Amino acid sequence: MAAAAGEPEVIRDKAAMRAWSRRRRAEGRTVVLVPTMGFLHEGHLSLVSEAAATAGPIAVVVSIYVNPSQFAPTEDLATYPSDLAGDLRKLASTGAVHAVFNPPDLYVRGGTAVGASAGAAVSCLEAAVGGDGHETWIRVERLEKGLCGSSRPVFFRGVATVVAKLFNIVEPDVAVFGKKDYQQWRLICRMVRDLDFAIEIIGSEIVREADGLAMSSRNVHLSREEREKALSINRSLANARTAALNHSNSASEHIKKQIVQTLTEAGGQVDYVEIVEQESLVPVETIDRPVTICVAAFFGKILAVLVGDSPLEDG
Ligand code: AMP
Repeated sequence: MAAAAGEPEVIRDKAAMRAWSRRRRAEGRTVVLVPTMGFLHEGHLSLVSEAAATAGPIAVVVSIYVNPSQFAPTEDLATYPSDLAGDLRKLASTGAVHAVFNPPDLYVRGGTAVGASAGAAVSCLEAAVGGDGHETWIRVERLEKGLCGSSRPVFFRGVATVVAKLFNIVEPDVAVFGKKDYQQWRLICRMVRDLDFAIEIIGSEIVREADGLAMSSRNVHLSREEREKALSINRSLANARTAALNHSNSASEHIKKQIVQTLTEAGGQVDYVEIVEQESLVPVETIDRPVTICVAAFFGKILAVLVGDSPLEDG
């Protein structure tokens, strides 16, 4: 465990960030990265605690960057909430963060519009670049499909590419991701394995509000009524878990139908409900091994509330 970190140093420049990390490593510290898109809440801060628990002398870096390449033009990039001053206060109050990496942009943007009107399959970034613009992408080919990838075809390509860029800039030894974004966590683990990044990936447990709703920066956009309705996700997962653990009916189809019904009755618009093997994310027909239930539903106009349920350890 490191000594108290005090006020984190805010670094905006890529080269300065890399130099900072290299200096920390030369001092014998393990560099631990927590990537975020800002507007921090207790869920993010739990990742910081996880980072701070890394053994030996450490240097903890939190990145704050709203990644345009993971948003389709129809999505909420323009209204994604931000509060850098508040984030810095929260991070300083943990006493566990040594640096905040807050790059103005991680891309070389070109001048010519490319495919700007091609709809949801084109990311916000792509719509804005051309010429000298960014054109190299990382695809985790199987894991990026299905679940969130079905209705958001550019999402994981954008996530994987920016996380790889953060890894190349910060050069961490360890990086911490939340299991709330279960598919993202598994996909990053696979990318790190496949591309030989020398980085240990830690998956951190979901942090929920007192009433059970998974904490999310986007929750701020929920009206009181929508928030109430969104609690049906947690309710439906708890019921499914009980049903699966009691072996009352272990057919995935049956449990998925029950979840869809609960969400729909609550006024949610279901994006997907899947019961998957924990590492491969391959859907299972029968719950006869540890699985994860993944649910995404819209409550309100633009908001997707996503939850990867905790494992059903007993199948
Ligand atoms: P975001 O800023 O939403 O991109 O999230 C940054 C990181 O925090 C990701 O690894 C998320 O999975 C994680 N995270 C966000 N919300 C929670 C939560 N409620 N519990 C645990 N981790 C979370």
